[in-house]
Amino acid sequence: MPATRQLSALKVGLTGGIASGKTTVANLFAELGVPLIDTDIIARQVVLPGEPGLAHIIETFGHDVLNTDGTLNRAALRTHVFNDQQQRKQLEAILHPLIRQNALQAAESLNEPYCLIVVPLMFESGFNQQVDRVLVVITPPEEQLRRLMHRDKSDEAEALRIINSQLSHDARESAADDLIHNSGEPAELAHQVEALHENYLKLSMQREPGQP
Ligand code: ADP
Repeated sequence: MPATRQLSALKVGLTGGIASGKTTVANLFAELGVPLIDTDIIARQVVLPGEPGLAHIIETFGHDVLNTDGTLNRAALRTHVFNDQQQRKQLEAILHPLIRQNALQAAESLNEPYCLIVVPLMFESGFNQQVDRVLVVITPPEEQLRRLMHRDKSDEAEALRIINSQLSHDARESAADDLIHNSGEPAELAHQVEALHENYLKLSMQREPGQP
């Protein structure tokens, strides 16, 4: 029988700009058996009917953000926050702590050496302070633009608007503990993921009870 682990999983937070390759990288870690915690999925769960997150949103924005069946009307909510910085901040103040709390709880419940928590807005939400390592995927800007337009079938102006509304590449890169360069072929990603995987396993071992 395996020995009972006494420490929770090492938490590796994965982030990067839109279409930088977070999902692609996360899937490669999953293929190695690493548990993934996806904050995009949690973000949808915390606003389901009956959840405190939805109740709080209704209190703040009113009942017009609901569909007739009581589910969140995302389009209606978007019209509130789209051009209104203050309302956007109010929404983030509701969602970010709930998402963080749920993700950390999921990590605590794992009996694994380490886990990957995918957080698109890692630095913007302060989540970087809650993880043991921050892993950033970086992609050259022209490649990011090309992949985003291709994936989301968006035109250049729309894709650029989204990219330019995000944190700069330099800001992310300088705040990273580890980097994945996603400029080449997908096969090159697998090598980088394997090397990081070995390193995270090592780091998690160093945290075993009895070790300094
Ligand atoms: P994110 O999750 O960061 O938004 P994705 O993992 O969805 O980014 O990647 C964005 C798009 O680019 C997807 O269509 C993906 O298949 C593609 N992609 C990612 N990495 C590569 C790569 N190294 N070469 C070619 N296409 C890639």
